[in-house]
Amino acid sequence: MGPPTVKNVLFRPSSSLIRIMADTTAKEAKISIKVIIDKVNRRVVYAEADHTFVDILFCFMTLPLGTIVRLLGKLDDKKYEGFGSLKNVYQSLEDFPECYLSTEECKHMLLNPRSLSIDHCRNLKLQIDDTEPLKYFKCAACADYSSYQPIFSTCTKAKCPKCGKLMTSEVTGSIQQAKVCVSGGGVFVSDIVTFIVTDDLCVMPYTSASSIQLVTRLGISDKSCLEEIKLDMGCEEILHLLKMALSLDSVFTYLVFHRVEPIRDILIPGQSGTLDQIDLTEKEESSSSKIHLEVTLQNSTGKLLFAEAQEDFIDFLFGFLSIPLGTVVGELMKGVSSLTCMDNIFKSISNMSVGRYLKSQEIKDMLLKAHIGQQYSSKHQVFRLEGIPLLWSSKYHKDPRIDRGLLKQSGMFIVTNDLIITPSSSYSTLNTLNDLKVSFFDIKREEISIGLTEGLKILKASLKSHSTLTDSLEHLLKM
Ligand SMILES: [Zn+2]
Repeated sequence: MGPPTVKNVLFRPSSSLIRIMADTTAKEAKISIKVIIDKVNRRVVYAEADHTFVDILFCFMTLPLGTIVRLLGKLDDKKYEGFGSLKNVYQSLEDFPECYLSTEECKHMLLNPRSLSIDHCRNLKLQIDDTEPLKYFKCAACADYSSYQPIFSTCTKAKCPKCGKLMTSEVTGSIQQAKVCVSGGGVFVSDIVTFIVTDDLCVMPYTSASSIQLVTRLGISDKSCLEEIKLDMGCEEILHLLKMALSLDSVFTYLVFHRVEPIRDILIPGQSGTLDQIDLTEKEESSSSKIHLEVTLQNSTGKLLFAEAQEDFIDFLFGFLSIPLGTVVGELMKGVSSLTCMDNIFKSISNMSVGRYLKSQEIKDMLLKAHIGQQYSSKHQVFRLEGIPLLWSSKYHKDPRIDRGLLKQSGMFIVTNDLIITPSSSYSTLNTLNDLKVSFFDIKREEISIGLTEGLKILKASLKSHSTLTDSLEHLLKM
């Protein structure tokens, strides 16, 4: 798509009213699935669903972690939190003084991340992601100069690079992204197939053989203990399901019977036995840059209390929020993120054939490797994820980063074990010790440097654990 010019901008009537109406309809819509239950053992054997439900499960992979934190925050039920320390990263960014960020628009951008697949997801039967459609703004003062090629921003907090005024004049018309058209029924999968979804969210095309296999695997030999029930799900129920899928291994059983079958280690903070499954080649490890941290430990217990770091580490942590879940599970964690249900959805997409079930290879690639926009990627993002320019040449898009960093070079920050991030001052260090009820005499400091391996461990631990730094950095500490 070429750069926008005045000529190809088509003005159209305000679409906000139409959008509100569409949203309301989408919110009230329901998806029905059939659930086969084992009445005797009070568990779900499997669910049978059409493309509308499977499309939504698959769309989970395209959601940036920050979007998931924001969406789950709307649910009242706090019984299962979903996402260990990652919530704190999001909350810390919300509370973070804007003066430390590269530009005013950085915070807005990072709190409202979007993957490049967001327009596909707007075609889903239920709109669980309420991220605003992208809007473009220019400087009203400079736009009048005919020789001036306008620069666009995606929020109203950006300052015009030419005159310094806020860029608040909304650009309407064809430079806004075109709606992605979907041919045929489903968005990602074919609408003529029925799918089976297991309790831990493995998705497969329905065959009588697979349904019998699932029944016999649970030791059920006759039909008398089975029953079929219908589950109607709206947006709220789907968000609830997403939360459960991040916390439990038996999602449908929980939704139907309100009981948990296998208990996972998310319920026991601090235990995360699968972190060591990350294997990196020496080449991958040595090519990544190092970030230095100073960690404070409790002398008497050896417990990690908090870390102090410069903006590079904070850039890296805030950067988590814009990475799509599918990229975390697949590209970064190689399918073993330890979020069982999400690993299963990822594997199901990987195993599903294109044409008959998944609509195209392009769709499959998009789900398995949902890219992040270039503006979200920082030079401190240890992972080397490829950022892609949004829409048109980045030349016309105001880059909210300074020197490819999300934060200014701006002093020191404190990061607690569960990833609460605040600017550091002598007083805040003392406060943190006080909050942890640790004597000022009972501490020691250690300097460590982290690379790709630790970066991955921190990300992985942040998805489940509330003692993320301990779980991911313990092996580096001398103690
Ligand atoms: Zn201007």
